[in-house]
Amino acid sequence: MTASDPLLRERSNAEVLLWQSKLRVALAVAVGGFGMALRIAGVLHGDWRSLAIVIAVYLTIVCGLALAVEKRGRAGNVMLGLTIAADLSVIFTGTALVTPPGYYERTLLLALCTIQFTEFYFGRRAAILAVAGATLAHVTIVWLAMTRGAPLRWAEEATGLATFVLAALVFIIVHGNFRLRLAHIAGMFDRAQEGDFTHEYDVDADGRPDAITMVGRAYNRMRTQLASIVINDPLSRCLNRRGFELELAREISRASRTGSSLAILAMDADLFKEINDTFGHLAGDAAIREIGTRLRAVARLGDVVARVGGEEFVLLAPATDEDGALYLANRIAESFRAHPFTVGSREIPLTLSIGVVAEPAITADSAEDLRARADEALYAAKRSGRDCVVLWTHGLPPVARGTLSPSVLVSGAWPSPRGSGDVTRDR
Ligand code: GH3
Ligand code: MG
Ligand code: MG
Repeated sequence: MTASDPLLRERSNAEVLLWQSKLRVALAVAVGGFGMALRIAGVLHGDWRSLAIVIAVYLTIVCGLALAVEKRGRAGNVMLGLTIAADLSVIFTGTALVTPPGYYERTLLLALCTIQFTEFYFGRRAAILAVAGATLAHVTIVWLAMTRGAPLRWAEEATGLATFVLAALVFIIVHGNFRLRLAHIAGMFDRAQEGDFTHEYDVDADGRPDAITMVGRAYNRMRTQLASIVINDPLSRCLNRRGFELELAREISRASRTGSSLAILAMDADLFKEINDTFGHLAGDAAIREIGTRLRAVARLGDVVARVGGEEFVLLAPATDEDGALYLANRIAESFRAHPFTVGSREIPLTLSIGVVAEPAITADSAEDLRARADEALYAAKRSGRDCVVLWTHGLPPVARGTLSPSVLVSGAWPSPRGSGDVTRDR
């Protein structure tokens, strides 16, 4: 779920409205109490009984809305509209009741506070609605005062109102941009949480750098470090499974767009447990490091090498057909066969079984099966005696993930260890 999800937005609105309703009650009580004190002191005059009724009605509406929001757990546009209408009504009615018409601009100052609150928490559209509501309410109280004979001039009132609208719109535009840029950064954090670090904050696009640019820069720094931790395997210095999945998705979409071929080599070190058992885990780790180094050395620019399990590696070769993939796999198998791994002065045979799948023209459907087919071919390579290459073809028995387990090996289901090294073209 992302920040732009409507349900998430309505839940977040509800959360904000609930804490704001407490603030609304406190403000209404404070302003009402302060006004009463000024009235008792003889500073202000006006219809205080009606003002008390207006504030009581406002408090009832605010509490009623809060109860409804709490019950539903979400607040949509209707709830927001009703809240803005209640705020503006109490500001304009209340001020009109206790303020002489010559000071009606006070209502616009208070309305600016409402607009700031609205824009900050509920966005540009709600804030523009609030500006329209405030303008209408101000025109209404001025018109009512003039019909009762107040010495107001439309030109003066219109100028005051235009200044208010201008100030409010400037605020909404400037602050709205802040919100959009922050939402953009929040979106990048959302994607980073999924392990997708492909997006970078475009610092150069900020002509006048500000606090948000600083957050963007901080994100970029974090992205570089975290991306490397999240998608790389420190032991083999290849990508890890997560990094591979991301690259695979990217290459599949690229290949299905261009209709080009894609090949996958699934590789598993043969009888690796024996290396661990005989020479210890540190030697095993060194062997895994060595496999990563050799695979990266043999891979072409644009190929992806990943360690996707203990001693299981995958090589993704874009724009590579069946012959190319088989050639590459054989070259890898041969180089491991020819160059044993050394521990101290001892040479340890270290060979790979390799399953190969090559899809001439990737489509959304064929892409799904690629990984599973590479595993099926790898399984067949193990079954054929290890240290060999098998190309996936129709008719290879499917394999469930994780079936290349030592228990199967121990149970004798496998043929004798260390195969002949033949390259199998299983057609
Ligand atoms: P097979 O030819 O059937 O693949 O035989 P295998 O012994 O390689 O069997 P399997 O692939 O099932 O076993 C992998 C072994 O690799 C088991 C585990 O002890 C070892 N291993 C997995 N991850 C690591 C690691 O990070 N370091 C070390 N040293 N060993 C690991
Ligand atoms: Mg193995
Ligand atoms: Mg394995």
